Amino acid sequence: MNYRSTRGNVKDALKSSDAVVQGLAPDGGLYVPVDFPKPTYDLENLIQLPYQKLAQTILQWFFNDYPAEQLADGTTKAYADQWDDDSIAPLSRQKAGFNYLELYHGPTLAFKDIALQMLPQLMTKAIKLNGVDRDIVILTATSGDTGTASMRGFSNVDGTQVIVFYPDGGVSPVQLKQMLGQPGQNLTAVAVKGNFDDAQTQVKQIFNDQAFNQRLIDNGYQFSSANSMNIGRLIPQVVYYFAAYGQLVEQDQIKLGDAINFTVPTGNFGDILAGWYAKKLGLPIKKLICASNENNVLTDFFTTGRYDRRRAFHLTSAPAMDILVSSNLERLLFDVYDEDAASVKDLMERLQNDGWYQITSAAKAKLDQEFAAGYAAQSQVAGEIKYVYETSGYLIDPHTAVGSFVARQYQKNSHDQTPMVIVSTASPYKFPETVYHALTGQDTQQQGLPAIKQLHDLVGGELTAGVKELFDHQPRKESVIAPDDMEDLIAEVLKLK
Ligand SMILES: *Cc1c(COP(=O)(O)O)cnc(C)c1O
Repeated sequence: MNYRSTRGNVKDALKSSDAVVQGLAPDGGLYVPVDFPKPTYDLENLIQLPYQKLAQTILQWFFNDYPAEQLADGTTKAYADQWDDDSIAPLSRQKAGFNYLELYHGPTLAFKDIALQMLPQLMTKAIKLNGVDRDIVILTATSGDTGTASMRGFSNVDGTQVIVFYPDGGVSPVQLKQMLGQPGQNLTAVAVKGNFDDAQTQVKQIFNDQAFNQRLIDNGYQFSSANSMNIGRLIPQVVYYFAAYGQLVEQDQIKLGDAINFTVPTGNFGDILAGWYAKKLGLPIKKLICASNENNVLTDFFTTGRYDRRRAFHLTSAPAMDILVSSNLERLLFDVYDEDAASVKDLMERLQNDGWYQITSAAKAKLDQEFAAGYAAQSQVAGEIKYVYETSGYLIDPHTAVGSFVARQYQKNSHDQTPMVIVSTASPYKFPETVYHALTGQDTQQQGLPAIKQLHDLVGGELTAGVKELFDHQPRKESVIAPDDMEDLIAEVLKLK
Protein backbone atom coordinates (compact mmCIF):
# COMPACT_ATOMS: atom_id res chain seq x y z
CA MET A 1 0.00 0.00 0.00
CA ASN A 2 1.73 3.16 -1.21
CA TYR A 3 0.81 6.80 -0.68
CA ARG A 4 1.10 9.65 -3.15
CA SER A 5 0.48 13.37 -2.90
CA THR A 6 -2.88 14.84 -3.92
CA ARG A 7 -0.86 17.37 -5.94
CA GLY A 8 1.93 15.14 -7.17
CA ASN A 9 2.99 12.14 -9.13
CA VAL A 10 2.37 8.43 -8.52
CA LYS A 11 6.05 7.78 -9.18
CA ASP A 12 6.94 9.73 -6.01
CA ALA A 13 4.75 7.48 -3.87
CA LEU A 14 5.99 6.32 -0.45
CA LYS A 15 5.16 3.34 1.66
CA SER A 16 2.64 3.98 4.42
CA SER A 17 5.11 4.14 7.30
CA ASP A 18 7.13 6.80 5.45
CA ALA A 19 3.98 8.81 4.74
CA VAL A 20 3.16 8.71 8.47
CA VAL A 21 6.59 10.07 9.39
CA GLN A 22 6.57 12.71 6.64
CA GLY A 23 3.11 13.99 7.54
CA LEU A 24 2.71 16.43 4.66
CA ALA A 25 4.00 15.86 1.12
CA PRO A 26 6.94 18.10 0.07
CA ASP A 27 4.80 19.70 -2.68
CA GLY A 28 2.27 20.87 -0.07
CA GLY A 29 -0.25 18.15 -0.97
CA LEU A 30 -1.73 15.49 1.29
CA TYR A 31 -0.89 11.80 1.17
CA VAL A 32 -3.61 9.49 -0.19
CA PRO A 33 -3.50 5.78 -1.07
CA VAL A 34 -2.32 5.09 -4.62
CA ASP A 35 -4.82 2.22 -4.73
CA PHE A 36 -7.62 2.72 -2.28
CA PRO A 37 -8.08 -0.58 -0.38
CA LYS A 38 -10.86 -2.85 -1.60
CA PRO A 39 -10.89 -5.44 1.14
CA THR A 40 -13.26 -8.37 1.12
CA TYR A 41 -14.79 -8.79 4.54
CA ASP A 42 -17.90 -10.04 6.21
CA LEU A 43 -19.59 -6.96 7.69
CA GLU A 44 -21.45 -9.01 10.27
CA ASN A 45 -18.23 -10.47 11.64
CA LEU A 46 -16.31 -7.24 11.37
CA ILE A 47 -18.70 -5.16 13.45
CA GLN A 48 -18.74 -7.74 16.22
CA LEU A 49 -15.04 -7.29 16.87
CA PRO A 50 -13.95 -5.43 20.00
CA TYR A 51 -12.79 -1.89 19.19
CA GLN A 52 -9.07 -2.76 19.38
CA LYS A 53 -9.41 -5.65 16.93
CA LEU A 54 -11.63 -3.64 14.62
CA ALA A 55 -9.00 -0.91 14.60
CA GLN A 56 -6.25 -3.40 13.91
CA THR A 57 -8.15 -4.85 10.96
CA ILE A 58 -8.92 -1.50 9.36
CA LEU A 59 -5.43 -0.11 9.96
CA GLN A 60 -3.91 -3.19 8.35
CA TRP A 61 -5.86 -2.47 5.13
CA PHE A 62 -4.21 0.94 4.91
CA PHE A 63 -0.84 0.37 6.58
CA ASN A 64 0.24 -3.00 5.29
CA ASP A 65 3.98 -2.44 5.61
CA TYR A 66 3.57 -2.63 9.39
CA PRO A 67 3.78 -6.22 10.65
CA ALA A 68 0.43 -7.41 12.04
CA GLU A 69 1.82 -7.91 15.55
CA GLN A 70 2.95 -4.26 15.64
CA LEU A 71 -0.51 -3.00 14.75
CA ALA A 72 -1.98 -5.38 17.31
CA ASP A 73 0.39 -4.02 19.94
CA GLY A 74 -0.29 -0.41 18.87
CA THR A 75 -4.08 -0.67 18.93
CA THR A 76 -4.02 -2.50 22.25
CA LYS A 77 -1.97 0.30 23.81
CA ALA A 78 -3.85 3.15 22.13
CA TYR A 79 -7.28 1.92 23.24
CA ALA A 80 -6.57 0.74 26.78
CA ASP A 81 -7.53 2.03 30.22
CA GLN A 82 -6.77 5.68 29.42
CA TRP A 83 -10.36 5.48 28.08
CA ASP A 84 -13.17 5.60 30.57
CA ASP A 85 -15.52 3.43 28.51
CA ASP A 86 -14.63 -0.10 27.39
CA SER A 87 -16.34 0.28 24.05
CA ILE A 88 -14.10 3.36 23.36
CA ALA A 89 -16.77 4.99 21.18
CA PRO A 90 -20.15 4.31 22.83
CA LEU A 91 -23.34 5.16 20.99
CA SER A 92 -26.03 6.81 23.07
CA ARG A 93 -29.61 6.88 21.85
CA GLN A 94 -31.58 9.86 23.08
CA LYS A 95 -35.29 10.64 23.31
CA ALA A 96 -34.76 13.82 21.31
CA GLY A 97 -34.36 11.55 18.32
CA PHE A 98 -30.75 10.93 17.52
CA ASN A 99 -27.92 8.59 18.36
CA TYR A 100 -24.85 10.37 19.68
CA LEU A 101 -21.54 8.68 18.99
CA GLU A 102 -19.52 9.76 22.03
CA LEU A 103 -15.91 10.12 20.96
CA TYR A 104 -14.78 11.99 24.04
CA HIS A 105 -14.06 9.21 26.53
CA GLY A 106 -10.29 9.54 26.08
CA PRO A 107 -7.78 11.44 28.22
CA THR A 108 -8.29 14.96 26.79
CA LEU A 109 -12.06 14.78 26.43
CA ALA A 110 -12.39 15.25 22.67
CA PHE A 111 -12.47 13.00 19.63
CA LYS A 112 -8.90 13.86 18.64
CA ASP A 113 -7.73 11.34 21.26
CA ILE A 114 -9.00 8.53 19.02
CA ALA A 115 -6.33 9.40 16.47
CA LEU A 116 -3.70 10.90 18.72
CA GLN A 117 -3.46 7.95 21.08
CA MET A 118 -2.73 5.84 17.98
CA LEU A 119 -0.45 8.16 15.99
CA PRO A 120 2.55 7.94 18.37
CA GLN A 121 2.32 4.15 18.07
CA LEU A 122 2.37 4.36 14.28
CA MET A 123 5.14 6.91 14.29
CA THR A 124 7.55 5.27 16.73
CA LYS A 125 7.09 1.91 15.00
CA ALA A 126 7.67 3.54 11.60
CA ILE A 127 10.91 5.08 12.81
CA LYS A 128 12.15 1.65 13.91
CA LEU A 129 10.92 -0.04 10.72
CA ASN A 130 12.73 2.47 8.54
CA GLY A 131 15.84 2.90 10.65
CA VAL A 132 15.41 6.67 11.03
CA ASP A 133 18.06 7.86 13.50
CA ARG A 134 16.77 11.41 13.83
CA ASP A 135 14.44 12.77 16.47
CA ILE A 136 10.96 13.55 15.16
CA VAL A 137 9.66 17.07 15.74
CA ILE A 138 5.88 17.12 15.78
CA LEU A 139 4.93 20.60 14.64
CA THR A 140 1.27 21.44 14.99
CA ALA A 141 -1.12 24.34 14.62
CA THR A 142 -4.19 23.80 16.73
CA SER A 143 -7.57 25.35 17.28
CA GLY A 144 -7.43 23.72 20.72
CA ASP A 145 -8.09 20.01 20.77
CA THR A 146 -5.28 18.78 18.50
CA GLY A 147 -2.79 20.54 20.75
CA THR A 148 -4.06 18.97 23.94
CA ALA A 149 -4.43 15.53 22.39
CA SER A 150 -1.02 15.48 20.69
CA MET A 151 0.77 16.69 23.81
CA ARG A 152 -0.97 13.97 25.75
CA GLY A 153 -0.31 11.29 23.12
CA PHE A 154 3.40 12.10 22.69
CA SER A 155 4.22 13.05 26.29
CA ASN A 156 7.69 11.62 27.09
CA VAL A 157 7.69 9.41 23.98
CA ASP A 158 11.41 8.77 23.27
CA GLY A 159 12.81 10.37 20.13
CA THR A 160 10.00 12.93 19.76
CA GLN A 161 9.57 16.64 20.45
CA VAL A 162 6.17 18.31 20.26
CA ILE A 163 5.75 22.01 19.45
CA VAL A 164 2.20 23.31 19.42
CA PHE A 165 1.03 26.72 18.21
CA TYR A 166 -2.43 27.92 19.12
CA PRO A 167 -4.23 31.21 18.37
CA ASP A 168 -3.82 33.73 21.19
CA GLY A 169 -7.20 33.99 22.94
CA GLY A 170 -8.72 31.49 20.49
CA VAL A 171 -8.85 28.39 22.69
CA SER A 172 -11.13 27.66 25.63
CA PRO A 173 -9.96 28.04 29.26
CA VAL A 174 -10.05 24.28 29.77
CA GLN A 175 -8.06 23.63 26.59
CA LEU A 176 -5.50 26.22 27.70
CA LYS A 177 -5.23 24.58 31.10
CA GLN A 178 -4.75 21.19 29.44
CA MET A 179 -2.01 22.41 27.12
CA LEU A 180 -0.09 24.38 29.73
CA GLY A 181 -0.62 21.72 32.39
CA GLN A 182 0.28 18.57 30.45
CA PRO A 183 3.47 17.14 32.00
CA GLY A 184 6.20 15.97 29.62
CA GLN A 185 9.88 16.85 29.01
CA ASN A 186 9.38 17.03 25.26
CA LEU A 187 6.37 19.38 25.09
CA THR A 188 6.10 23.08 24.14
CA ALA A 189 2.92 25.08 23.58
CA VAL A 190 3.01 28.73 22.51
CA ALA A 191 0.28 31.23 21.66
CA VAL A 192 0.48 33.02 18.29
CA LYS A 193 -1.11 36.38 17.54
CA GLY A 194 -3.88 36.00 14.97
CA ASN A 195 -6.41 33.23 14.34
CA PHE A 196 -6.06 29.50 13.65
CA ASP A 197 -5.71 29.95 9.90
CA ASP A 198 -2.78 32.35 10.44
CA ALA A 199 -1.03 29.77 12.61
CA GLN A 200 -1.84 26.89 10.23
CA THR A 201 -0.62 28.83 7.18
CA GLN A 202 2.65 29.63 8.91
CA VAL A 203 3.13 26.01 9.99
CA LYS A 204 2.61 24.87 6.38
CA GLN A 205 5.22 27.41 5.25
CA ILE A 206 7.71 26.21 7.84
CA PHE A 207 7.16 22.63 6.69
CA ASN A 208 7.96 23.70 3.14
CA ASP A 209 10.97 25.86 4.01
CA GLN A 210 13.79 23.79 2.47
CA ALA A 211 16.63 25.66 4.16
CA PHE A 212 15.07 25.30 7.58
CA ASN A 213 14.39 21.60 7.00
CA GLN A 214 18.06 21.11 6.09
CA ARG A 215 19.11 22.92 9.25
CA LEU A 216 16.95 20.54 11.26
CA ILE A 217 18.49 17.51 9.59
CA ASP A 218 22.00 18.87 10.26
CA ASN A 219 21.02 19.00 13.93
CA GLY A 220 19.61 15.47 14.00
CA TYR A 221 15.92 16.34 13.70
CA GLN A 222 13.13 15.89 11.19
CA PHE A 223 9.66 17.43 11.06
CA SER A 224 6.45 15.53 11.14
CA SER A 225 2.88 16.63 11.62
CA ALA A 226 0.23 15.48 14.03
CA ASN A 227 -2.36 17.62 12.26
CA SER A 228 -5.26 15.85 10.65
CA MET A 229 -3.36 16.17 7.37
CA ASN A 230 -1.26 13.21 8.56
CA ILE A 231 -2.63 9.99 7.11
CA GLY A 232 -1.73 8.30 10.40
CA ARG A 233 -4.31 10.47 12.07
CA LEU A 234 -6.98 10.12 9.49
CA ILE A 235 -7.20 6.35 9.18
CA PRO A 236 -7.75 5.58 12.90
CA GLN A 237 -10.86 7.76 12.60
CA VAL A 238 -12.39 5.46 10.00
CA VAL A 239 -12.78 2.85 12.73
CA TYR A 240 -15.51 4.53 14.77
CA TYR A 241 -17.85 4.75 11.78
CA PHE A 242 -17.82 0.95 11.69
CA ALA A 243 -18.11 0.79 15.48
CA ALA A 244 -21.20 3.03 15.36
CA TYR A 245 -22.79 0.84 12.72
CA GLY A 246 -22.12 -2.25 14.81
CA GLN A 247 -23.84 -0.74 17.83
CA LEU A 248 -26.92 0.21 15.81
CA VAL A 249 -27.21 -3.39 14.62
CA GLU A 250 -26.59 -4.74 18.09
CA GLN A 251 -29.26 -2.45 19.56
CA ASP A 252 -31.72 -3.63 16.88
CA GLN A 253 -32.13 -0.10 15.60
CA ILE A 254 -31.21 -1.28 12.10
CA LYS A 255 -30.75 -4.56 10.26
CA LEU A 256 -27.41 -5.56 8.80
CA GLY A 257 -27.06 -3.83 5.43
CA ASP A 258 -29.44 -0.93 6.16
CA ALA A 259 -28.07 2.49 5.29
CA ILE A 260 -27.52 5.16 7.94
CA ASN A 261 -26.65 8.87 7.98
CA PHE A 262 -23.96 10.65 9.93
CA THR A 263 -23.85 14.33 10.82
CA VAL A 264 -20.34 15.50 11.57
CA PRO A 265 -19.38 18.79 13.27
CA THR A 266 -16.66 19.90 10.89
CA GLY A 267 -13.60 22.13 10.95
CA ASN A 268 -10.55 20.88 9.09
CA PHE A 269 -12.65 18.17 7.38
CA GLY A 270 -10.69 15.23 8.85
CA ASP A 271 -13.49 13.62 10.82
CA ILE A 272 -16.05 13.67 8.01
CA LEU A 273 -13.44 12.58 5.47
CA ALA A 274 -12.87 9.46 7.58
CA GLY A 275 -16.60 8.84 7.20
CA TRP A 276 -16.22 9.15 3.45
CA TYR A 277 -13.38 6.62 3.55
CA ALA A 278 -15.62 4.28 5.58
CA LYS A 279 -18.23 4.58 2.87
CA LYS A 280 -15.63 3.88 0.18
CA LEU A 281 -14.75 0.73 2.11
CA GLY A 282 -18.36 -0.37 1.75
CA LEU A 283 -20.00 0.69 5.02
CA PRO A 284 -23.69 1.36 4.23
CA ILE A 285 -23.82 5.14 4.61
CA LYS A 286 -26.40 7.12 2.71
CA LYS A 287 -25.46 10.73 3.45
CA LEU A 288 -22.66 12.44 5.29
CA ILE A 289 -23.92 15.76 6.58
CA CYS A 290 -21.29 18.41 7.05
CA ALA A 291 -22.17 20.69 9.97
CA SER A 292 -20.52 24.09 10.39
CA ASN A 293 -20.83 26.98 12.79
CA GLU A 294 -20.96 30.63 11.66
CA ASN A 295 -17.70 30.04 9.80
CA ASN A 296 -19.87 28.38 7.17
CA VAL A 297 -17.51 28.31 4.20
CA LEU A 298 -18.21 24.57 3.77
CA THR A 299 -21.98 25.02 3.81
CA ASP A 300 -21.60 27.44 0.93
CA PHE A 301 -19.18 25.12 -0.82
CA PHE A 302 -21.53 22.13 -0.72
CA THR A 303 -24.44 24.32 -1.77
CA THR A 304 -22.79 26.16 -4.67
CA GLY A 305 -19.58 24.32 -5.57
CA ARG A 306 -17.64 27.49 -4.85
CA TYR A 307 -15.11 27.60 -2.03
CA ASP A 308 -14.48 31.17 -0.94
CA ARG A 309 -12.42 31.95 2.14
CA ARG A 310 -12.62 35.72 1.63
CA ARG A 311 -15.05 36.44 4.43
CA ALA A 312 -15.17 37.60 8.03
CA PHE A 313 -13.78 35.17 10.57
CA HIS A 314 -15.98 34.52 13.62
CA LEU A 315 -14.83 33.41 17.05
CA THR A 316 -17.62 31.09 18.17
CA SER A 317 -18.55 28.87 21.08
CA ALA A 318 -17.32 25.89 19.02
CA PRO A 319 -13.69 27.01 18.55
CA ALA A 320 -12.40 23.74 17.07
CA MET A 321 -14.57 24.55 14.05
CA ASP A 322 -13.48 28.18 13.66
CA ILE A 323 -11.68 27.46 10.41
CA LEU A 324 -11.94 28.97 6.94
CA VAL A 325 -9.44 26.73 5.15
CA SER A 326 -10.39 23.10 5.68
CA SER A 327 -7.23 21.25 4.70
CA ASN A 328 -8.64 17.76 4.36
CA LEU A 329 -11.21 18.81 1.79
CA GLU A 330 -8.31 18.46 -0.64
CA ARG A 331 -8.49 14.68 -0.26
CA LEU A 332 -12.18 14.69 -1.18
CA LEU A 333 -11.49 16.92 -4.20
CA PHE A 334 -8.88 14.40 -5.28
CA ASP A 335 -11.60 11.72 -5.29
CA VAL A 336 -14.30 13.72 -7.06
CA TYR A 337 -11.76 14.83 -9.68
CA ASP A 338 -11.03 11.16 -10.39
CA GLU A 339 -7.55 11.38 -8.86
CA ASP A 340 -6.44 14.12 -11.24
CA ALA A 341 -3.61 15.70 -9.22
CA ALA A 342 -3.03 18.53 -11.70
CA SER A 343 -6.60 19.80 -11.23
CA VAL A 344 -6.31 19.56 -7.45
CA LYS A 345 -3.03 21.48 -7.54
CA ASP A 346 -4.66 24.16 -9.67
CA LEU A 347 -7.62 24.54 -7.29
CA MET A 348 -5.32 24.77 -4.27
CA GLU A 349 -3.20 27.41 -6.00
CA ARG A 350 -6.30 29.43 -6.76
CA LEU A 351 -7.33 29.21 -3.13
CA GLN A 352 -3.89 30.35 -2.05
CA ASN A 353 -3.55 33.18 -4.56
CA ASP A 354 -7.11 34.39 -5.19
CA GLY A 355 -8.88 33.16 -2.05
CA TRP A 356 -11.49 31.12 -3.91
CA TYR A 357 -12.16 28.44 -6.50
CA GLN A 358 -15.13 26.87 -8.26
CA ILE A 359 -15.34 23.13 -8.91
CA THR A 360 -16.70 21.64 -12.14
CA SER A 361 -20.37 20.70 -12.38
CA ALA A 362 -19.37 17.04 -12.76
CA ALA A 363 -17.50 17.17 -9.46
CA LYS A 364 -20.36 19.07 -7.84
CA ALA A 365 -22.86 16.42 -8.98
CA LYS A 366 -20.80 13.72 -7.28
CA LEU A 367 -20.73 15.67 -4.03
CA ASP A 368 -24.51 16.18 -4.13
CA GLN A 369 -25.03 12.43 -4.13
CA GLU A 370 -22.90 11.79 -1.09
CA PHE A 371 -23.02 14.91 1.08
CA ALA A 372 -25.37 17.47 2.53
CA ALA A 373 -24.43 20.52 4.57
CA GLY A 374 -25.79 23.10 6.96
CA TYR A 375 -24.73 25.44 9.72
CA ALA A 376 -25.83 26.68 13.11
CA ALA A 377 -25.60 30.27 14.29
CA GLN A 378 -24.50 31.03 17.86
CA SER A 379 -28.03 31.32 19.30
CA GLN A 380 -29.03 28.07 17.59
CA VAL A 381 -26.09 26.26 19.17
CA ALA A 382 -27.15 27.42 22.63
CA GLY A 383 -30.79 26.59 21.87
CA GLU A 384 -29.86 23.07 20.81
CA ILE A 385 -27.87 22.40 24.00
CA LYS A 386 -30.89 23.47 26.02
CA TYR A 387 -33.40 21.59 23.87
CA VAL A 388 -31.51 18.29 24.04
CA TYR A 389 -31.03 18.65 27.79
CA GLU A 390 -34.67 19.47 28.42
CA THR A 391 -36.09 16.74 26.21
CA SER A 392 -33.58 14.00 27.04
CA GLY A 393 -31.66 14.98 30.17
CA TYR A 394 -28.55 14.62 28.03
CA LEU A 395 -25.70 17.09 28.03
CA ILE A 396 -23.90 17.95 24.78
CA ASP A 397 -20.99 20.28 24.07
CA PRO A 398 -21.26 23.22 21.61
CA HIS A 399 -19.56 21.33 18.73
CA THR A 400 -21.93 18.40 19.09
CA ALA A 401 -24.79 20.89 19.34
CA VAL A 402 -23.85 22.30 15.93
CA GLY A 403 -24.16 18.77 14.56
CA SER A 404 -27.38 18.07 16.39
CA PHE A 405 -29.00 21.28 15.15
CA VAL A 406 -27.90 20.75 11.56
CA ALA A 407 -29.13 17.13 11.63
CA ARG A 408 -32.56 18.28 12.82
CA GLN A 409 -32.69 20.94 10.12
CA TYR A 410 -31.57 18.41 7.48
CA GLN A 411 -34.32 15.96 8.42
CA LYS A 412 -36.93 18.70 8.35
CA ASN A 413 -35.90 19.98 4.93
CA SER A 414 -35.10 16.69 3.21
CA HIS A 415 -37.73 14.41 4.79
CA ASP A 416 -34.93 11.83 4.86
CA GLN A 417 -35.75 9.64 7.86
CA THR A 418 -32.72 7.36 7.58
CA PRO A 419 -31.40 6.59 11.10
CA MET A 420 -29.10 9.41 12.14
CA VAL A 421 -25.86 9.32 14.10
CA ILE A 422 -24.46 12.60 15.39
CA VAL A 423 -20.73 12.42 15.82
CA SER A 424 -20.27 13.81 19.32
CA THR A 425 -16.82 15.34 19.34
CA ALA A 426 -16.22 16.74 22.82
CA SER A 427 -17.27 16.33 26.41
CA PRO A 428 -19.64 19.09 27.59
CA TYR A 429 -17.20 19.61 30.47
CA LYS A 430 -14.55 20.79 28.04
CA PHE A 431 -16.71 23.88 27.36
CA PRO A 432 -18.51 24.38 30.68
CA GLU A 433 -19.02 28.16 30.36
CA THR A 434 -20.96 27.83 27.12
CA VAL A 435 -22.99 24.85 28.26
CA TYR A 436 -23.88 26.50 31.56
CA HIS A 437 -24.95 29.68 29.82
CA ALA A 438 -27.04 27.75 27.32
CA LEU A 439 -28.89 25.94 30.11
CA THR A 440 -29.43 28.82 32.52
CA GLY A 441 -29.01 32.04 30.54
CA GLN A 442 -26.35 33.07 33.07
CA ASP A 443 -22.57 33.26 33.05
CA THR A 444 -20.54 30.99 35.30
CA GLN A 445 -18.94 32.93 38.15
CA GLN A 446 -15.46 32.06 36.86
CA GLN A 447 -13.99 30.33 33.82
CA GLY A 448 -12.16 27.04 33.48
CA LEU A 449 -12.12 24.58 36.38
CA PRO A 450 -14.50 26.50 38.67
CA ALA A 451 -16.98 26.57 35.77
CA ILE A 452 -16.77 22.78 35.53
CA LYS A 453 -17.71 22.57 39.23
CA GLN A 454 -20.59 24.97 38.76
CA LEU A 455 -21.96 23.06 35.76
CA HIS A 456 -21.60 19.78 37.61
CA ASP A 457 -23.48 21.21 40.61
CA LEU A 458 -26.28 22.17 38.24
CA VAL A 459 -26.71 18.85 36.43
CA GLY A 460 -25.29 16.29 38.87
CA GLY A 461 -24.14 12.82 37.85
CA GLU A 462 -20.68 11.29 37.93
CA LEU A 463 -17.69 13.18 36.50
CA THR A 464 -15.49 11.04 34.25
CA ALA A 465 -11.87 10.26 35.11
CA GLY A 466 -10.59 12.56 32.37
CA VAL A 467 -12.53 15.51 33.76
CA LYS A 468 -11.33 14.82 37.29
CA GLU A 469 -7.74 14.68 36.07
CA LEU A 470 -7.97 18.29 34.88
CA PHE A 471 -7.71 19.35 38.47
CA ASP A 472 -4.36 17.59 38.99
CA HIS A 473 -1.67 19.57 37.18
CA GLN A 474 -0.23 23.04 37.70
CA PRO A 475 -0.09 25.00 34.38
CA ARG A 476 3.12 26.52 32.96
CA LYS A 477 3.32 30.23 32.15
CA GLU A 478 1.86 31.26 28.80
CA SER A 479 4.01 32.93 26.13
CA VAL A 480 2.72 34.77 23.07
CA ILE A 481 4.64 35.39 19.84
CA ALA A 482 4.03 36.82 16.35
CA PRO A 483 3.60 34.40 13.41
CA ASP A 484 6.90 35.63 11.94
CA ASP A 485 8.74 34.49 15.05
CA MET A 486 7.55 30.87 14.94
CA GLU A 487 10.63 29.61 13.13
CA ASP A 488 12.96 31.30 15.62
CA LEU A 489 11.04 29.80 18.48
CA ILE A 490 11.43 26.31 17.05
CA ALA A 491 15.18 26.90 16.65
CA GLU A 492 15.37 28.03 20.26
CA VAL A 493 13.41 25.08 21.67
CA LEU A 494 15.52 22.58 19.73
CA LYS A 495 18.74 24.52 20.39
CA LEU A 496 19.58 24.44 16.68
CA LYS A 497 23.07 25.42 15.59
C1 LIG B 1 -11.28 19.05 15.80
C2 LIG B 1 -12.67 19.12 16.27
C3 LIG B 1 -13.75 19.22 15.37
C4 LIG B 1 -13.55 19.30 13.88
O1 LIG B 1 -13.00 18.14 13.35
P1 LIG B 1 -12.26 18.20 11.92
O2 LIG B 1 -11.68 16.86 11.75
O3 LIG B 1 -11.22 19.26 12.05
O4 LIG B 1 -13.30 18.54 10.92
C5 LIG B 1 -15.03 19.24 15.89
N1 LIG B 1 -15.25 19.21 17.23
C6 LIG B 1 -14.24 19.11 18.10
C7 LIG B 1 -14.56 19.10 19.55
C8 LIG B 1 -12.93 19.07 17.68
O5 LIG B 1 -11.94 18.98 18.55
